[in-house]
Amino acid sequence: MTKMFNLISHPLIQHKLTFMRNEETNTDNFRRLLREISQMLVYEATRDLPTEMATIKTPLTVMSSPIISGKKLCLVSILRAGNGMLDGMLDVLPAARVGHIGLYRDPQTLEPVEYYMKVPDDISERLVIVVDPMLATGNSAIAALNRLKECGASAIKYVCLLAAPEGLAALQAAHPDVSVTTAALDERLNDHGYIVPGLGDAGDRMFGTK
Ligand code: URA
Repeated sequence: MTKMFNLISHPLIQHKLTFMRNEETNTDNFRRLLREISQMLVYEATRDLPTEMATIKTPLTVMSSPIISGKKLCLVSILRAGNGMLDGMLDVLPAARVGHIGLYRDPQTLEPVEYYMKVPDDISERLVIVVDPMLATGNSAIAALNRLKECGASAIKYVCLLAAPEGLAALQAAHPDVSVTTAALDERLNDHGYIVPGLGDAGDRMFGTK
């Protein structure tokens, strides 16, 4: 059965996340850790994919063995920080298509403004996994999910690294059909819309822009 909220408390993820939170972790290690955690998060997020039996021949005998069935996959990155999760996920799901949605947060209103969107034409037939490391206010996530649904996407999962309670509640209220997988549910948002304790600005830390 699909669980609508999945908090992944695996020790490997929690250990790596601690290093990501530490302000002394450099860009190089931050990026590598995000890639490694993303591999594990997408592994958990795809736990409920359907399978069907295929008949194959091993070097010893014929056997019936499971392969993934159902919808093909599309990862959608919310730019720019979402891109930091793509490589790890594509390590695990090499055949997935990839879409991008560019949204920036207006610093005054914290509302999302769309500046780019490119997704596969057949998105309505795919299982869409939307990725963005930080689920903060939820405004960007909700806007991205609204746009994907306008494009016909109907089977959607959301995967992030950290979630704030405020953003999670907003996302679940706006899109109750979208399951959320995260490595941590933090305490709160601060007045600037940053997650506390969090890890700072995920984009700046992975791209070294500050
Ligand atoms: N985006 C970030 O990069 N960090 C936060 O804490 C919130 C939003």
